[in-house]
Amino acid sequence: MSINFGVDYYPEHWPEERWETDARLMQEMGVQVVRMAEFSWHKLEPVEGTYDFEWLDRVIRLLAKHGIKTILGTPSAAPPAWMCNKYPDVMPVDRNGQRRYFGGRHHDCQSNPIYREKVTAIVTRMADHFGNNPDVIGWQPDNELGNSHLDVCFCDSCRKSFQKWLQKKYVNVGALNKAWGTPFWSQEYNSFEEVFAPLKTLTGENPSTMLDWKRFHSDLIVDFLTMQVNILREKCPNQFVTHNYMGFSNCVDYYKLSKPLDFVCQDQYPTGYWIDDGWASPSELAATLDVIRSYKNRSYWMMEQESGICGWEYMGRLPAPGQLPLWALQSIGHGADTVVFFRWRTCTFGTEEYWHGILPHNGVPGRTYNEYKELIHKMNPLMEQMKGAVPKSDVGIIFSFDQNWAFEIQPNARGLNYQNHVRSWYKAFYDRHMNVDFITERADFPQYKLIVAPLQYLMSPVLADSFTRYVEAGGHLVLTMRSGVKETDNRCFTKDALPGLLRKLAGAQILDYDALSQNECEVRFDGADCQTESSDHFEGAAGFDGSSCQKKSEVCLEGAAPAACHGRFWADVLTPDEGTEVLATYASEWYKGAAAVTAHNVGKGVCWYVGTEPDDAFMSALAGLFVDKAEIRSMGCAKKAGSGLHGMPATDVEFVSKEKDGVVWSFVLNHSAEPRTYEYAVDAGELVFGENAGTLAAYEVHIYRK
Ligand SMILES: [Zn+2]
Repeated sequence: MSINFGVDYYPEHWPEERWETDARLMQEMGVQVVRMAEFSWHKLEPVEGTYDFEWLDRVIRLLAKHGIKTILGTPSAAPPAWMCNKYPDVMPVDRNGQRRYFGGRHHDCQSNPIYREKVTAIVTRMADHFGNNPDVIGWQPDNELGNSHLDVCFCDSCRKSFQKWLQKKYVNVGALNKAWGTPFWSQEYNSFEEVFAPLKTLTGENPSTMLDWKRFHSDLIVDFLTMQVNILREKCPNQFVTHNYMGFSNCVDYYKLSKPLDFVCQDQYPTGYWIDDGWASPSELAATLDVIRSYKNRSYWMMEQESGICGWEYMGRLPAPGQLPLWALQSIGHGADTVVFFRWRTCTFGTEEYWHGILPHNGVPGRTYNEYKELIHKMNPLMEQMKGAVPKSDVGIIFSFDQNWAFEIQPNARGLNYQNHVRSWYKAFYDRHMNVDFITERADFPQYKLIVAPLQYLMSPVLADSFTRYVEAGGHLVLTMRSGVKETDNRCFTKDALPGLLRKLAGAQILDYDALSQNECEVRFDGADCQTESSDHFEGAAGFDGSSCQKKSEVCLEGAAPAACHGRFWADVLTPDEGTEVLATYASEWYKGAAAVTAHNVGKGVCWYVGTEPDDAFMSALAGLFVDKAEIRSMGCAKKAGSGLHGMPATDVEFVSKEKDGVVWSFVLNHSAEPRTYEYAVDAGELVFGENAGTLAAYEVHIYRK
C-alpha cells in the first residue's frame, strides 16, 4: 500500500520504554510513516566529531516492525550549544547588528563557512549511514527554511556573500550604481567591497538596494538547501528529498526553493495562535493549499497537519469535533497525496509544550486519535487511487515573490498589502465555487480562460509582451492598480505614462493617482451603484432562488444585496483611449466621474484594468462579470438548510475538484457548524465518501468520483 498518512514523531523526548507503546498505537491508528530527527543535532553529534546514530537505528527498526516507514530530517535548524560556544560566528546577526544567541531555533548563519562545514559533515554522515536503509524512504533537510530568517543575517560573512552576489549580477560597479540610483543621498560605491549589508539606517532606505538584498537572501537560503540536497542525491539515490513550507511565507522564493526537491510539503495550522481572529478562514486555507501546489506545479504532501490547539506563549482556539478531519480532507482535495499529522504526542517541556499533538500530555488516546483513526481507515482505499491528482482550473492568479517584496519595501499606501490583495481576488472565485491555480509570470498562460495579474508593480518588456500575446490570442486578463510603475530593478518607469509597458494593452493611461490609505472611495459600477438589485451580477446576492445553479450569472453569495461599491487603499485615475470601455467610475473625491475600471478589447481577447482594490461586494460583482465573459462556470451551489423552501445561499461550503488520468474527484466541504444542503451544477459522478448526497452535517465532507 502506498504511504497515505503519518505523524511527526520525537522519540528523543520520551523514555525508550515508551517507544513500543507508541509504535503499536500508531499502527492501530493506521500510521504508515513518521518524520523524525529534524531538531536532534545534539543527540546525533553530542560532542564535536562524535556521532551517535544508534538510538535512531533502534527506533527506525522498531517502527518498521509495526509497518511504519521513516522520513529523516537533517538537524541544521538547531545547532547545538557546543558549536555555538566554540564558533560563535555560526550564530546570526540581526538588522541592528546584534548577534542572536542560542536557546531558540534557527540561530544559524547560512553563509558562515564553519556552519556550512559542520552541516556538510553531519548530513554526509547521516546519508552514509541511512542511505541504504530500506525503512528510510526520504529526507527533509532543515525545517521551514525562511521561518525566523526575516531579520537575519547581516553578519560580515553575509555581507561578503552579498557583495559577491552583486558582482555576479552587475559585473561592474557602475552598473550597480545605475540600477540602484545611487546619486540620491550620495550613495555611490567605488567598488563592490564598499557595499554594506543593509543594517538599520537612521532614515528610509534605498528601495533598489532592499529588493536586491531580499533576492540575495532568498538565493542564499536556496543555496543552503541545495548544498544538503546534493549530498543526499549522491548518497541516497532511492530516497526522496522534500521540504516543509509555510504557505505564503515570503523569506525565500519558494518557486526557486522547489527546484532541487522531488515534491514540496506544507505545514498547515488553521487555528495558529498568531491568527488574530482565532481561525483562518476557509478561503485563506484553500488559497494556502493552492499556492503550495503551485510551487512545484504538482501534488504535494502535508508534512505537518494540525492536530489540536497550537501554542507557544499563547494558545489558539480548540478545534470542534469533526474540524480536524475536515481540514485534512481540504488539504487532500487541493492536491495532497499524503497527510502527516503534527505531532504524535504533546510534548511536556520546551517552547512547544502547548503545541498539541494527537495524544495529550499523558499519552492516552482520546478524541483526536479516534477521529483521525476513523478518517484514515475510511480514506485509505481512496487515497491510493487519488495519488497525483490535482485541481484543473480555468482561473489563474499570478503570485510573485518579487512583487511581494517590492510592496513590503514600499507598501505605497497605508493598509495596502500585496498578499491580502492577491487573496481578496482569490476569494471572489473561491466563493463562486471555482478551482483556482496560482501561477508564476512564466506559466503557460493560454491554458487559462482568465488570468488575474494583481499589482504588477515591477514590469519587464518580456512579461508585458507575454500578457499582450495572451490577450491577443483570446485570453481574458485582469490587471489591477499600481501596475507597470517600476522597472525590475525597482526604479520608476519613465518612458510612457502609467501603466507604462502595459499602457497599450490596458488601453488607458493614468495621469493621476491617489494613495487613499485608510480612506475609502465610492465607485459607480455598470452605470448603477451596487445597490441596484436588478443588476445581473447581483442576481445571486439579491436572493438565490435555488432553481438552478447553471445560469451563467448565478452567484452563490451569502446575505443581502451589497451596499454601495467602494475602493480601498489606492485609486488609479484612468483616462481611457478611444475604444476602451469604462465599466466603473469614481463616485467621490475630486476625480468623481473619472474611470475606475476599464475594458479594452485587444485581438480576440480583453484586458480589464481595475484601478482600486474593490471591497468585498464590488470585488464579487467584478469577478461575476469576468467569469461570465470568460465563460467559466461554478461547480455548484450550497444553501443553509431549514430556512424556507430553497434556503439561503451559503459560502461556507467549499467546492474543489482534482483529477488525474480522466478521473475527477469532487470534494464538497461544510466549514460551518450548521448543516448545509448543496447541489452540483456539473455531473460529479458517484458519492464515494459520506452519505446522503446533497446534505452535509456540521464539518462534514462528501467526495464524488467520476
Ligand atoms: Zn550571516
